[in-house]
Amino acid sequence: MTPLPLRDRADACPGALQTHAAADGALARVRVPGGVLTAVQLRVLATAARELGDGALELTSRGNVQLRGLDQGAAPELGNRLAAAGLLPSATHETARNVLASVLSGRSGGLLDVRSWVPAFDAGQCGDPELARLPGRFLAAFDDGRGDVAGLGADIGLLALDRSTVALLLAGVDSGLRTDPDGAVALALAATRAFLDVREADGGTAWRVGELADGSARIAAALGGAHAEPRPVPPSPAVSPAGAVRQDDGRTALVAVVPLGRLTAEQTELLASTTATEVQLTPWRSVVVPDLPDASAMAGLAAAGLVLDPGSPWLRVTACAGRPGCAKSLADVRGDVVAAVTAGELPADGARQHWVGCERRCGRPQGDVVDVVATPTGYWIA
Ligand code: SF4
Repeated sequence: MTPLPLRDRADACPGALQTHAAADGALARVRVPGGVLTAVQLRVLATAARELGDGALELTSRGNVQLRGLDQGAAPELGNRLAAAGLLPSATHETARNVLASVLSGRSGGLLDVRSWVPAFDAGQCGDPELARLPGRFLAAFDDGRGDVAGLGADIGLLALDRSTVALLLAGVDSGLRTDPDGAVALALAATRAFLDVREADGGTAWRVGELADGSARIAAALGGAHAEPRPVPPSPAVSPAGAVRQDDGRTALVAVVPLGRLTAEQTELLASTTATEVQLTPWRSVVVPDLPDASAMAGLAAAGLVLDPGSPWLRVTACAGRPGCAKSLADVRGDVVAAVTAGELPADGARQHWVGCERRCGRPQGDVVDVVATPTGYWIA
């Protein structure tokens, strides 16, 4: 059995106000619950990236956004802009607002529409002063039954089993506890509070449910109620969908993959002018532009460098920050990936791969993936 990590300090996850000093300047992480951004919010982020950062947004595997290359004193100005755009509803809870939700929920596929769960959970979190103590690593995931985010190992998960039954997942495993859709958010909030209680009882600073000894069982016991036979949790897809999707209402959603998750200010503004309502950032560093009358915007997005071809190698390649963002990096990893993709020369026969600038292998995605590791003498395929 893998030993549980012992945490002797609070997590140091960056936020929008509490930035991280990276080699290329301060890094700010903006939480985007459910990955949902309006056109106005996209424009605010694009302008902030251009005026305060390095001109781009980084998409994270939790559907959040990072700005890099900020001046050390830029955090207050960034915070003011984000707060005015509704992207910083609580300065005390900002790093805890990590929430994933099924992609295209309520628009195409799935058993339930979980879109309303995200703002309800977020409001419940931000409205409870105790939940400001949640670690920045804590993650919630709401899956509408299609099985796209339930398998991403969130601390607290909701998974629709049918149209009237929702399972509570703890550390990515079915707890056996059940509720109906109307009670789902309340159960997730209760489980979140129970995590803090169990953590407190251990006198520790665990960051995740899985780091607590018997954490899932103790949280489930604290919640009480009847237990059903636990079901297996579906594995999440390894790569993003891409291209046009016909919505249940006849409209079209476009899913565009963002190469290496770096969305330029210009691309962000194009998304803002393309969307009729909102966009959704996905855990696979892609963006869904829903509710369009047809797929005619596809060509413009592709011309701007976004990827809508499901066969593109960009769906299979990820990378850490590399140089110049990380002082430990032995290479300009991202520049090297771009060169390899452009030349059609990805190693390992183009298999799903993660490029990194050193042996720490940050940001490695789950599942079957080949590591391409920089060394002083070139890349090593692990
Ligand atoms: S893998 Fe190494 S080079 Fe890449 S971000 Fe992590 S520490 Fe930096």
